[in-house]
Parts: sequence; structure tokens; C-alpha cells
Amino acid sequence: GDLDVNVPVQSKDEYGKVIQTFNDMTLRLREAEDARRRLVADVAHELRTPLSIMQLKLENAQQSGQSGSPEMLLRLHDEVIRLNLLVEDLHVLSLAEAGRLSLDRKTLDLTKKLEQIVDDVKMEAEENGLDIRFTSNARSVIVKADAGRLTQVFINLITNAIRYTPKGGNISVVIEDKVMDRDANYACVSIIDNGIGIPAEELPHLFDRFYRVEKARSRHTGGTGLGLSIAHQFVKAHGGFIRIASQHEQGSVFTVYLPIEGEQTGSTS
Ligand code: ADP
Repeated sequence: GDLDVNVPVQSKDEYGKVIQTFNDMTLRLREAEDARRRLVADVAHELRTPLSIMQLKLENAQQSGQSGSPEMLLRLHDEVIRLNLLVEDLHVLSLAEAGRLSLDRKTLDLTKKLEQIVDDVKMEAEENGLDIRFTSNARSVIVKADAGRLTQVFINLITNAIRYTPKGGNISVVIEDKVMDRDANYACVSIIDNGIGIPAEELPHLFDRFYRVEKARSRHTGGTGLGLSIAHQFVKAHGGFIRIASQHEQGSVFTVYLPIEGEQTGSTS
């Protein structure tokens, strides 16, 4: 393509360095261009199915000369909601990937926040035949964070635990105060399930957009395939990171590391 330029470097002087820099920049531009192309292809692919379903339903209603049954309208509405969520997720994800995600960081008691989140999802877990518990070894764990963004992170991870754990399973959310890692102190939140687990060879791809371990099955569970990418990017924007430990058919542990008050390393914008 247009970016297939690579100037051979012969000299080791200033001139050689300029050429080397030029070659590095070309490579990086090419990678960015590839990523952009892949994103457009992925988005087109993801939008195609729901849009075709909606088109077909509307055409069927038109042909039968009816304005559409209430059930059909309900299903169409569900598809529209799903599409809207997908577009919204893509929007925040692209902002985060460009380092332009706005964070409204305030002092936040993570223990209290998680207690509330677990309370909110308890019903959904129980409806799926799952037991969910919250444990903390500290009364309060204070971080400087965007409560809304972090709520989305934990909701995404807990929703996954619910989705990928068969009936009768257990989910626990555990918070730990002050875990030392990479020379800094972090508050750690683990979401532990004893569900279907993830094969080891899939682990490196989990934060990729639209990545699903078993495409067909995940499709039925209603996710957008962006949940983990968003969680990864939002936590990164806070100066933290996520670790995954999983055993196929045994269960998974997703641990969120967040820099604790006064020691955060990430951007504050
Ligand atoms: P999705 O909308 O498909 O759930 P995510 O980005 O949230 O997308 O997750 C990506 C994939 O990672 C899922 O499709 C699933 O295969 C796998 N996964 C995520 N969380 C879990 C979990 N707790 N247990 C087993 N597999 C999981």
C-alpha cells in the first residue's frame, strides 16, 4: 500500500538516525492504518446482523399489509436497544483507546460502591440460579476514581461471571486493601466464579474488541463482545490494570488493580 516505504539504513551518523526514525514512524503509521481498517470491518460485521433482522421484520409486516404485531414491535425495540448499546460502547471505547476518555475523579469508597453494585445484581444472579457474595477485609478502601466508569467496569465483569456460570454456581466479589505490585500499592477487586472457565490459549486475546471464546454460544447470551475491552481501557485510564486467571471448565478470576488514594500513577484528566 501507500505506506510500504522502508529506506535502507547504511550510515551510523546523524543521517542514519533520521532514516531510522523515518522507518519507525512508517511502521507505526502502517500499524495504525491496519488497526483502523480492522475496526471498520469489525463494526460493519457487528451491525449487519441486527440490521438485517430489523429490515426483514419490517418488510414482512409491510407485505402482509399489517402494521406489525405487538410482539414483533417488542423484538424490534430490543434490537434497537442492542444497537444503541453497541454504538455507545464503541464510542467510549474509541475515546479511551485514543487517550481521550474523560474521567471525573473523586474520592470514592470502593467497599461501599461494590456493596451497592452486588446488591443491585443480586436479583439477576438469583434468577439465574447463582449465589453471589461480597467480602471485604477492610471497612473502607479509598480510591480517587470516576464512580460511573468504575461501576461499568464491575458491572461488565460481574455480568460476565453470571453469563458464563451454569446454574447452581457461586460468584464472589472480594476486595483487598493495599496490595503491593510493581512498586506501588493497589486496591484489588476480584470477581471469582466457578463457571465454564477460559482455555489458556484464549487468555491473551480476551481484551481484544469483539473477541469471544465460543462465538456461537456467546451470541445467544446477548453481549456485545466489548465488555472486557471497555473494562481493560477504563481501568488503564485510572492507572490500573486487570489480571485474569482461569481454568477451563473450573472457573475464572478477574482481578482489578486500582492505585490507592495519593499513590495513583495514571492520568488525572
Ligand atoms: P461478551 O459480550 O461476549 O461477554 P466480553 O468482552 O465481555 O464480551 O467477553 C469476551 C469473551 O470472554 C466472552 O465472549 C467469553 O467467551 C469470555 N469470558 C468473559 N468473562 C468470562 C467468564 N467469567 N467466564 C468464562 N468466559 C468468560
